[in-house]
Amino acid sequence: MRNKDCYCALCRTPRVVRYSRTLKPIHYAQVTLFTVATTWLFFPWLEFKALGSFFIYWAAFEFSQKTLYRRDLKCKSCGFDPTWYKRDVKVARRQVEEYLAKNPQLLQRNTRSSADSNFSSRQ
Ligand SMILES: [Zn+2]
Repeated sequence: MRNKDCYCALCRTPRVVRYSRTLKPIHYAQVTLFTVATTWLFFPWLEFKALGSFFIYWAAFEFSQKTLYRRDLKCKSCGFDPTWYKRDVKVARRQVEEYLAKNPQLLQRNTRSSADSNFSSRQ
């Protein structure tokens, strides 16, 4: 799986996003493999209706991929979630404030590092 290097839009922390938003061909191959196995297992009772399990596995894969992507996209340093920022800026702002209120050590570290960079840029 290819990683994507980027920076947090809010705190400028270098980040790596491991998961993609959409399914890749390997995931569709896995879904197909699971469907074949399920169909083979339940064919005596369900016959070709067992092929409908494809949609169940597809939905499960889509849900897990989206969940992993959303979890991966959220910044660990400041709690900024770009997907929420796209939907509702106020909710994204409140989430960052709550995240930093729960983790005050992150706020001190971020403030110190930005102060250090400001100090070094003045010299
Ligand atoms: Zn951040």
